[in-house]
Amino acid sequence: MSVRELLSNCTFSMLDGKVDTRILETLKCLGFNKPTRIQAEALPHIMLGKDLIGAAKTGSGKTLAFLIPVVDKLLKMGFTKKHGTGCIILSPTRELALQTNNVLKKLLRGIHLSHCLIVGGEKKAKDVLSLRKGSNIIVSTPGRLLDHLENTESFNCDNLKCLIVDEADKLLEAGFEKHITGIISLLPSKRQTLLFSATIDNKVESLARLALKANPVLISVNEDKQSTVTGLQQGYCICSVQNRIPWLFKMLKKTKKFKVMVFFSSCKSVDFHYDFFKNHCGAAVLCIHGKQSQSRRKEAYQSFIDAESGALFCTDVAARGLDIPSVDWIVQYDPPTDPKEYIHRVGRTARGVNQKGSAVILLRPEEEEFVSYLRKEKVFLDKYSFGEPPREVQDMLEELIIKNGLVKTLARKAYLTFLRCYKTHPLKKIFNIKTMDLKLAAKAFGFLEQPDVDFLRSKKT
Ligand code: ADP
Ligand code: MG
Repeated sequence: MSVRELLSNCTFSMLDGKVDTRILETLKCLGFNKPTRIQAEALPHIMLGKDLIGAAKTGSGKTLAFLIPVVDKLLKMGFTKKHGTGCIILSPTRELALQTNNVLKKLLRGIHLSHCLIVGGEKKAKDVLSLRKGSNIIVSTPGRLLDHLENTESFNCDNLKCLIVDEADKLLEAGFEKHITGIISLLPSKRQTLLFSATIDNKVESLARLALKANPVLISVNEDKQSTVTGLQQGYCICSVQNRIPWLFKMLKKTKKFKVMVFFSSCKSVDFHYDFFKNHCGAAVLCIHGKQSQSRRKEAYQSFIDAESGALFCTDVAARGLDIPSVDWIVQYDPPTDPKEYIHRVGRTARGVNQKGSAVILLRPEEEEFVSYLRKEKVFLDKYSFGEPPREVQDMLEELIIKNGLVKTLARKAYLTFLRCYKTHPLKKIFNIKTMDLKLAAKAFGFLEQPDVDFLRSKKT
C-alpha cells in the first residue's frame, strides 16, 4: 500500500495558526498537503500534551506525526542550547535513527534548535562535544544513549519535555528492553511520552505501561486489516462493577440524541434495566427479548425503527433475527460471549457506504485483557475515559429496592442471571467470576445486602 492510500481526508491547513509557520512552509516544500491518517489522528492529542500510543504500519508517516508537534513545542517554549535536551527519540537501529534524523534536519530548516544523532559505532567523543554544547533534540539508539546518561556529566536533560519511543516493536525485538528501562529511570518523570509501533502486542503494552502515564491516548489506524468496518469508532470503558448503573445512566444521557442499542446477556437483565430506566429514570427506552410475546416484540421493534432517537435494550438472540436499520451507538453493557458476538453486535452500526457509528463496551478493570484478545481478531479499540459516575442515580436505585417489591424481584433475578452468565462464560479467564466481589456486584442491582446465590455453591443452575 502506498502512502497515497494512507492519506487522511484532512489537509495540513488544520494546523494553521497552531503550528509554527516555518514548519508548515517545510511541509509545503516537501510537497505534503495532506497528513496521513496517523498524523491527522495523533497530532491533535500530542499537541494537547497527552501521552499517546500510535499504532500504524510501516510507511504510514509516523515520523512526522511526532516530529511536527515536538519541534513546535520546543520552539514555543523558547528552547536554546543552554536549556539542554528537550526531546529524546529512541530508534531501534542506526539506520532508522539516521532516517529520522534526516527528516528532522529538513523540518529544522530555518529554525534554531540544535539536534544531534547519537548512535553506536560512532566516536563517543564527538557525541560528548554535541552534548556539552547542548542538543535540544536527540535521535538515538538505546545502548549509546544510556551510556551517555550514565557517564557523560555535561549531558543536561533536566529540562526534558518529551520522550519518543519509536518503532517500539522493533526495539523490543532487538532486545533493548533493559536499556529502555534504564533510560526511563534516569529521565525526569514530568514529561510527555509517545510510543509508536507498527504492531502492538503484550510486550509493547507493558513497555507502554512502564514509559507512559496511566491512560494514554491510543490511536490505531491499521484499519484496512480490521475485522470491523472503517466508519466505526469503537472503544471501551473501564468501570468497577459497583458503578455500572451510574455508568449506564451517564451513557444514556450522553447519547440521548442518538439511536442506541444496549446489549444485555439475559432477558431478566433486560427486564430489570428496562423497568428501572424507563419507569424510574424517565429515559426513552424500548426493549426486546426472547421471552416477550410476539406482538410486544413487533411493537417495540417498529417503534425503534420509527424513532429518531432513544435506546433499545436487547439480548443478542432477540437482536439477531431482526433487520434493524443502522443505529448510531452500540453499547455492550454485559460482555459478549466471544469476539464473534462482539463483531456481530457492533455490526448493527456504521452500515453501508460512508456510514458512521460508535460503539463502546463496558469492562471491569479485571477484564481489560479482552481488548488484547479482540486485537488478535483484528478489532482495535480505543480507551475511553468516562469521568466520575453520578452518585444520585445509585442512591435512587438503592432506595427503590428497599421500597418497591416489584423492582426488587426484577433486580434479584437480574443479579442472579448476571452472575450465572459470568459463571458459564466461555472466556472464563477474562470474564472470571472468581475475580468478582459479589457484594459489590449486587450494588449494580441496587442491593446493599447481597441476595443469596445458592447456585454458586450447589451445582443447580
Ligand atoms: P513510518 O515511520 O510509519 O514507517 P515514515 O514516517 O518513515 O513512516 O514515512 C513513510 C514515507 O511517507 C516517507 O517517505 C515520508 O516522506 C512519507 N510521508 C510522510 N508523511 C507524508 C504525508 N503527509 N504526505 C505524503 N507523504 C508522506
Ligand atoms: Mg518509523
